[in-house]
Amino acid sequence: MNPVFSGLGETVFDVMSGLARETGAINLGQGFPEWDGPEDLRARAAQAVMSGPNQYPPMRGLPELRAAVADHYNTTQGLELDWRRNVTVTSGATEALAAALLAVLSPGDEAIVFEPAYDSYLPMLRRAGAEARIVRLHPPSWKVDPERLLEAFSSKTRAVILNTPLNPSASVMDEDDLSLIARLCIERDCICISDEVWEECVFGSAVHRSMMGIPGMRDRTIKIGSAGKMFSMTGWKVGFACAGPDLTEAFARAHQFLTFTTPPMLQTAVAFGLQTASGRLKTMRETLQGLRDNLISQLVEEGFHVLPAAGTYFLSVDLARSGVGASCAEFALRAVKEAGVATIPFSAFYTSPTEDALVRLCFAKSEQTLNEGVKRLAIARNLMAGSR
Ligand code: PMP
Ligand code: GLN
Repeated sequence: MNPVFSGLGETVFDVMSGLARETGAINLGQGFPEWDGPEDLRARAAQAVMSGPNQYPPMRGLPELRAAVADHYNTTQGLELDWRRNVTVTSGATEALAAALLAVLSPGDEAIVFEPAYDSYLPMLRRAGAEARIVRLHPPSWKVDPERLLEAFSSKTRAVILNTPLNPSASVMDEDDLSLIARLCIERDCICISDEVWEECVFGSAVHRSMMGIPGMRDRTIKIGSAGKMFSMTGWKVGFACAGPDLTEAFARAHQFLTFTTPPMLQTAVAFGLQTASGRLKTMRETLQGLRDNLISQLVEEGFHVLPAAGTYFLSVDLARSGVGASCAEFALRAVKEAGVATIPFSAFYTSPTEDALVRLCFAKSEQTLNEGVKRLAIARNLMAGSR
């Protein structure tokens, strides 16, 4: 067995959702909406299954979807992409991340990872033979410390892995941080693998800026997106990787031996979704923002300390400041088993212990689910009341 995987447990998302299913708990853990996604997109996919073709689509994706991806980002993020040279369709962002890491990293290379880090980055980076240099971000601002970042670079650094909006902290990286990372990537001749799957889930005055749009980064960035997040259908697993022509070629060589391609009916439906995106994305943001605000006010009323949440489906609760005397991992396990509510402990996103005890809650749920979830969180807090 390869030690990268034999030494790992099952991902926290599946563990928590599994426990929620077993115990009948309210699931505020894994990030997926409680609703089933736009009906017209589902109808398009169903129609495409029946009318076909149902054979292998082109390895880089259906031209209509690649063109729709380029048009969407050109309109919304000013990226000037050419679908033939800059866009590859993948089976979800997870596959795009794996392909990007395999395409860019060689054994002995180093890659910089900001922590908290989405859980697939480190195993896949190590499987590519590289080593991670961790730069920790701290609540509540989650801003990059320029000195820490500079220290993390070495002569072996090949890539920086970025995630904005950031899962799990729900923060959106500002212009200063993006420019700093860009400057160092350019000076040190590094690639930025930019996980932007939450780009459409930003609220209030927060604005998502793509690393690909920062001057000098266009041909040094692999920008990764996810239709599952854009259209609230996380099970669809349709992703996109946008990059300069040379990086796109290398990326496609890795992608062709991972999944080769992605189900054509889903690609057809996602192309339609992107062609008609502006209204539906605005409605999605308004719905999510309403649910976020509702959950925040209920949690605050119950005496929970909530951190700012500018993007993603998530918000985080500071357990110590909310009167909980347990670590986040213990809280999450006992809350699902004893109080009937699943959450995600931040510990799953770190390589070593942190001072903070934070849990992540998903607010892409019905008001009824959120109301019941808060009641159960209050029960969990009473079970673990105290200070650490
Ligand atoms: N990156 C981040 C930061 C995510 O949060 C997720 C899933 N929520 C993914 C990648 C994976 O996306 P997909 O389901 O499209 O594979
Ligand atoms: N990205 C989702 C989350 O953060 C989960 C994806 C998965 O389960 N692999 O909850």
